[in-house]
Amino acid sequence: MKELLSLNKYLIKYKYRLGLGVIFVTSANVFAVLPPVIVRNVLDEMYSAIDRYKLIADSAISNLYIDQVMQIVMTNGLLLLAFAVIRGVLMFFMRQTIIVMSRHIEYDMKNEIYNKYQSLDTAFFKSHQTGDLMSRISEDVSRVRSYLGPAIMYTLNVTVLATMAIWGMLRVNVTLTIYALFFIPLLAISMIKINQIINKRSSKIQAQLGVLTSKAQETFSGIRVIKSYVQEKSVQTNFERYCRAYRRSNINLAKTEAMYTPLMGIFIGLSLIITIYIGGKMVIEGLITVGNIAEFIIYISMLTFPVSTLGWVSTIIQRAAVSQKRINDFLKIEPTIQNNIAATNKDLEGKIVFENVSFTYPHTGIQALKNFNLSIEPHQKIAIIGKTGSGKSTLAHLLYRMYDVENGAIFIDNENIKNWDIDALRGQMSYVPQEVFLFSNTIAANIGFGEDQLNIAEIREAAKTAHVHKEIENLSDKYETIVGERGVMLSGGQKQRVSIARALAKDHKLIILDDCISAVDNDTEQHILANLKKNLDQKTLIIITHRIFRNWDFDKIIVLDEGTISEEGTHEELMKLKGFYYDMYQYQIME
Ligand code: ADP
Ligand code: MG
Repeated sequence: MKELLSLNKYLIKYKYRLGLGVIFVTSANVFAVLPPVIVRNVLDEMYSAIDRYKLIADSAISNLYIDQVMQIVMTNGLLLLAFAVIRGVLMFFMRQTIIVMSRHIEYDMKNEIYNKYQSLDTAFFKSHQTGDLMSRISEDVSRVRSYLGPAIMYTLNVTVLATMAIWGMLRVNVTLTIYALFFIPLLAISMIKINQIINKRSSKIQAQLGVLTSKAQETFSGIRVIKSYVQEKSVQTNFERYCRAYRRSNINLAKTEAMYTPLMGIFIGLSLIITIYIGGKMVIEGLITVGNIAEFIIYISMLTFPVSTLGWVSTIIQRAAVSQKRINDFLKIEPTIQNNIAATNKDLEGKIVFENVSFTYPHTGIQALKNFNLSIEPHQKIAIIGKTGSGKSTLAHLLYRMYDVENGAIFIDNENIKNWDIDALRGQMSYVPQEVFLFSNTIAANIGFGEDQLNIAEIREAAKTAHVHKEIENLSDKYETIVGERGVMLSGGQKQRVSIARALAKDHKLIILDDCISAVDNDTEQHILANLKKNLDQKTLIIITHRIFRNWDFDKIIVLDEGTISEEGTHEELMKLKGFYYDMYQYQIME
């Protein structure tokens, strides 16, 4: 429960709304406990009036008397009506304050969590699944909101109402109050018990639903594989099995839920019978009036609903505590990659030095780079070649400060990368990752991503350099074509080129292309390379690739093997070495 204490800062932030809510709850309940008193008075009045009427029934004033009595009934009836209306209005405002407060807090929390997510490192996202991140920001927050809104409101309501009603009853007769309320705690306990069972079953259902959804999701994303291997039937059978389990659990839950109302009926019925029986005897003994019995009956029925919601409220609170713990767990994480206090924020030139850099991935313990040394001058064009898993992408990750080096250091423009302002650094590089990513937006928006205003001329220019302009022009909506989720509308090669265009549209001084010219044919590859050569004269370019680009004189070519440089030099130098590069070149010529 102490996890929920972290929400107090929000309750304090919205203290005026909450305070108003408390006032509305209290005053609404005042108008709830007044009607029983009025009913009692009217009833008692009527009884004595009937007795008096019998005495004067035949006299001339009898009609007048009836009129008077009716007047009393009418006035009190109208009073009851007025109270009901006032109470309704107050309850409206009670919801308007407390529930609205919970919505405001929900909004604040979502933003807080979202900001936290964005501040965290890549390593965090690698070790947590997207679904988990999503559920904490949506489901967990909404569970916590149920606590802040409905749970707080109902708890306040039941406390105030019960206090007032019990006080009203005690004022009439202590003994009868004890009898009348005898079953109420039992009602509360059984409601809490039923709720616990319902909870257990609901959580099971939730888990089953989770499995069901992820199975369905997986099937749909892998639908092409399933269809091509003609596995529709077996997938369907599998799905049906999960569905059956899900149905069984739901039916079980329905059985428990069905006990709710009857149990409530039994306890209320018992309370009423006892009240009428004991109360009746007391009326005969002259201890209380008939009106008092009516008053009690109204109190009891008034208490039933709030008491029966206790179980539900306790569940909400427990669930909220669990959810808040999950949220707090993430909020507590501090990003390891953080800005230095005196972070450098200057224009990037493009000089890069790797000095004895070693790096091990935190989660797998795989050492991706070992004592790596490399120095790149501004405007140089560098190629990094190596087998898969040799550490090429890791170099890019480190340059981008997605991770920090383990040993050694990276200098950009003679400044340790750790002293650069992270946003300034990233904001001046263009990096095209190996796994390209497009947003489900227009092509223009994808290329212009990150710009406040799309500059169509620039976007087209970048697309031309990336050799994708003509293909875009052939699409039905040209640059306004929506690419679909993750760019499903485009081929792998088109996606790569749109991503390259995105990097080029930024006019940054340093460009890193991570194996992103791999899904295109030879001809296209040559076009892209020729364009890059022509347009990136004044920029530093690092091309990571697993094949050799023959028609380009790189200033330096690095061959990576298991995290270390195995060969280094210009094309001619490497050819003379007759090593990996030479073999690969021969192999590529033969293709
Ligand atoms: P390349 O780009 O040359 O194919 P990488 O730099 O991606 O190679 O990977 C180098 C090594 O680090 C590989 O052994 C790979 O399995 C490992 N690796 C890459 N990315 C991660 C990651 N996010 N977490 C853990 N290990 C990784
Ligand atoms: Mg790679």
